[in-house]
Amino acid sequence: MELKANPNNNPDKLHRIIIKHPALTDGKVKSVYDVDAHRVMIKYRDEVTAFDGKKKSTPETKGRICCLISELLFTYLEKQGIKTHYIDCPSLDTMLCRKLTIVPIEVIVRNIAAGSIVKNTTLTEGTVISPPLVEYFLKDDSKGDPLLTQDRIRLMGIDPEPMYHIAKDVNLHLQEMFSQLDLDVVDFKLEFGYDADGELYVADEISPDSMRLWGKKDGRSNDKDIFRKYGSDEALIAAYGDILKGLRQLAV
Ligand code: 5GP
Repeated sequence: MELKANPNNNPDKLHRIIIKHPALTDGKVKSVYDVDAHRVMIKYRDEVTAFDGKKKSTPETKGRICCLISELLFTYLEKQGIKTHYIDCPSLDTMLCRKLTIVPIEVIVRNIAAGSIVKNTTLTEGTVISPPLVEYFLKDDSKGDPLLTQDRIRLMGIDPEPMYHIAKDVNLHLQEMFSQLDLDVVDFKLEFGYDADGELYVADEISPDSMRLWGKKDGRSNDKDIFRKYGSDEALIAAYGDILKGLRQLAV
């Protein structure tokens, strides 16, 4: 599959930003670079990690594929009236985004039981969760990302309500989009941030790295569980590539 960047952008300028400025933060699979008072550049690296970084690999083209999938999903959500940090994709693996103060909470939406909810409750894998469940986890690896209550979030000085409503809306839109690709949105993670004017935006990335997508017909994983369970770079890239191809066809 051919991976094409936005032809209006200038990779040389982008290269200068990345060379000149040290990364503000180096996450597990993305690096964030300062651009100016209002913008950052996020580089998606060819890396995949699982189990709090204990399992790692460097699948070629993964950064580009996740960046381009995130671009399509952010653009789609923006069209549905959801504010996201996405501004532009100046190259295949870099995203120009609004500079935000990131809320230290991972917001998870679940439509079908899988992963930690199966591990930590009596629910069995595959149980349909209706209405969808919105959960909050502290974004702090050193504390093991514990599950939060809405009251604890308020004690932290954060209002969970706006994130709750946006997460529910995003879920409806993602379900609509992925059902056209014959995929069930099992669960996904969102991050949020506030800009200097106090506006709330969906931040980080939305890609198969942060979602579970099961085939409607065969129930097979089309997401990072391929790496978590089987550790196969090739199968991971093939599944992510198919999603990018499918989303591109829908976007046309
Ligand atoms: P679980 O709570 O089952 O581990 O995860 C629920 C969903 O959120 C899954 O789709 C998983 O990929 C995503 N998720 C949870 N924590 C993280 C994280 O730290 N990083 C990413 N990329 N996704 C996460």
